[in-house]
Amino acid sequence: MALIVQKYGGTSVGTVEKIKNVAKRVARTKEQGNDVVVVVSAMSGETNRLLGLAHQISELPNERELDVVAATGEQVTIGLLAIALTEMGCKAKSICGFQIPVLTDAAYVKARIRQIRGETITQALKDGFVAVVAGFQGIDETGSITTLGRGGSDTSAVAVAAALKADVCEIYTDVDGVYTTDPNICADARKLDKISFEEMLELASLGAKVLQIRSVEFGMKYGVRIHVRSSFNDNPGTIVTTEEEIMETAVVSGVAYSKSEAKITVVKVPDRPGIAAKIFKPLSEANIVVDVIVQNVSVTGFTDLTFTIGRTDYKKAMRITEKAAKDVGAERVVGDDKIAKVSIVGMAMRSHSGVALKVFETLAAEGINILGISTSEIKISVLIEEKYTELAVRVLHGSFGLGNPA
Ligand code: ADP
Ligand code: ASP
Ligand code: MG
Repeated sequence: MALIVQKYGGTSVGTVEKIKNVAKRVARTKEQGNDVVVVVSAMSGETNRLLGLAHQISELPNERELDVVAATGEQVTIGLLAIALTEMGCKAKSICGFQIPVLTDAAYVKARIRQIRGETITQALKDGFVAVVAGFQGIDETGSITTLGRGGSDTSAVAVAAALKADVCEIYTDVDGVYTTDPNICADARKLDKISFEEMLELASLGAKVLQIRSVEFGMKYGVRIHVRSSFNDNPGTIVTTEEEIMETAVVSGVAYSKSEAKITVVKVPDRPGIAAKIFKPLSEANIVVDVIVQNVSVTGFTDLTFTIGRTDYKKAMRITEKAAKDVGAERVVGDDKIAKVSIVGMAMRSHSGVALKVFETLAAEGINILGISTSEIKISVLIEEKYTELAVRVLHGSFGLGNPA
């Protein structure tokens, strides 16, 4: 008998029929003699709908209240799934984030989990129930409801698995596992049997939304065995595991993209020590994560400073940057929220040269202009116009030989 955490994403619980299908899978796992904790997301499209309602009322809604609204999506699904399980004769109990509780910091909209107390879930299991847990939700120390950022149910699941020392955390989704790139935009993408935590971390942080980045961080830190697989079939999926367990060492192992990027340029900034800190400090204080930063060499005592942030932070970041720019005597601020970031990832890039050149040549051959570049030992990211995203992903995937052999 094992303790299994299963997480079902939005598309897997998108309709009542799909919820019944999930209930069947869960009941089967329970009948096989396992203790089962199910973590579910909101029904597909629901979180967007809820956030949309708030944005119809306010351009920049209060984030504490936004979380109160967004967190309700998951509450509906746990209730419906518990009802479906009970209807099938399988004892089930729904548990909201605050009832567990999942304690987080107070960074609304993207809260971080601080601690999960396992007793409520453990008691439900002891009493013979399947515990049906709401993903995405937390509660801060003042008792306010928080959410864990888009895709946060993955993190709820892995964190619960870590807290309960579960044998495995199965992430059920609408694709068969983790692929060399998004199989929905590149028909040639190849499913990986295994992927290292490090590579998965990198892919997730660069936009491969199959796992939220923090779920991978938790998995790595607490040694949770993560199995990403389809909720629509029984095919084995992808195991996320330690680097030592992986045999394959391709130079480039995956291509990721993110369309949720925006770019801000501060034009004609005086080139003096301390200016960058003055621009980035208020952004950091507002919990806005700045990603790629590009600064020109100054010849006239002035420079242009460009950086990217998440698109959902765009309006807030523009307001803050406009104020900071005025304070430091910059000329103006311009922004563009139709930016994408395409990245290639591979552990073996550490010891290979010429990879960046190949990226640039591949994109140049398609006439795709590079707006910014950022590199680390194991990844190269380029900023491009959003409309070229799919094309860039496909040509890079092809030129690094990642596809299925013909
Ligand atoms: P869920 O609703 O189950 O959480 P998501 O939509 O968040 O599902 O994540 C699954 C999606 O991630 C897939 O449908 C696919 O389009 C996308 N994806 C992006 N990159 C990858 C990748 N490398 N491997 C698999 N799926 C990927
Ligand atoms: N429902 C939330 C979202 O759409 C959390 C999740 O699905 O993981 O972001
Ligand atoms: Mg998801």
